[in-house]
Amino acid sequence: MTTSGLALRAGIATDVGRVREHNEDAAFARGSIYLVADGMGGHAAGEVASGITAAALGELAGRADLKVADVLAQVQEANDRILRTVVQHPDHLGMATTLTGVALVVVGGSQHWAVFNLGDSRVYRFVGGQLSQVTVDHSEVQELVDAGEITPDEARTHPLRHTVTRSLGRDVLPPVDTWLFPPCPGERFVVCSDGLTNEVDDAEIRAILGAGDDAQTTAQRLVNRAVDNGGRDNVSVVVVELADFPAAEVDEDTTPRGGGS
Ligand code: MN
Repeated sequence: MTTSGLALRAGIATDVGRVREHNEDAAFARGSIYLVADGMGGHAAGEVASGITAAALGELAGRADLKVADVLAQVQEANDRILRTVVQHPDHLGMATTLTGVALVVVGGSQHWAVFNLGDSRVYRFVGGQLSQVTVDHSEVQELVDAGEITPDEARTHPLRHTVTRSLGRDVLPPVDTWLFPPCPGERFVVCSDGLTNEVDDAEIRAILGAGDDAQTTAQRLVNRAVDNGGRDNVSVVVVELADFPAAEVDEDTTPRGGGS
């Protein structure tokens, strides 16, 4: 059986920050889908692109039988909707958005976390007190780091750090990176826009994640720290974790997981 859901707890927080006039980030955290999208484009079009994308992926939230292919198909659908919206609203030409997140999917008959990414928003995995960045930024600076031309530290202040090399909103959707993880007791995933990671370093993120607060408090504390540290961009954070790790093999709860988290 693949329909027995794992119980999850999630937190979600977002803030416009101290500089920007609009919040062009979108975030979603419910059921099988946890994501952040960071919109780009003038005249508030960025928030249209990120909103379309979050809503499209959010349509999968009630599905307890998701496959990775379903998530990828819905990313394509989100891209198609963005392009159709540009046709109807030519002033939105050029709008685009990052998308990253975690979906609860079924692989080989058991539930797994599927991390997906396009752009420079990030997913981190926190387990056993250790924080690791799962996603690899699709950005000019990441390419320079990979080529050994600059260090990760230099990337944090490099002038090209905001130049994203893959996003939704292009005529041809670029490849979406995916990673699979079997559920692990005590782990937490953090999904965030670059408004967090440009203001809060990994050590600070790790300290807040390990403080013992619930998922919602943790998400809000991370956003607050980014704003306190400068808030130069919109900042959005989703934190998701298993509420109870299921006992091995015996799974008597066959109630389909609903739309609530
Ligand atoms: Mn941003």
